Amino acid sequence: MADKRKYRDRAEYLKQAVDKRRKKMRQMAIEYKGGKCQLCDYSKCAQALDFHHLDPSKKDFGISADGITRAWSKIKAELDKCVMICANCHREVHSGLTQLSTVTLIEK
Ligand SMILES: [Zn+2]
Ligand SMILES: [Zn+2]
Repeated sequence: MADKRKYRDRAEYLKQAVDKRRKKMRQMAIEYKGGKCQLCDYSKCAQALDFHHLDPSKKDFGISADGITRAWSKIKAELDKCVMICANCHREVHSGLTQLSTVTLIEK
């Protein structure tokens, strides 16, 4: 019984550690990309900032559970192929309302 509880505590601890690392990675990624939406300068809520992949054949980049096992250098390489935009702009880009050409120019 005691062992089981210990295990649960450890599992909970690990979950929190992973969560913390993921948040930290996300924070680092956001800072790396300039801290605000590259289209409208939105920076109010970090949770509302997305990483949109410039290569449409690639999936949008997320700091997911998978992301935390990756080295920061790998994440950075991936971030270089993405633009950071807020959720609103992201929807607009995907619906074709907003073109990303201006952003890609800034990126270069
Ligand atoms: Zn996208
Ligand atoms: Zn925006």
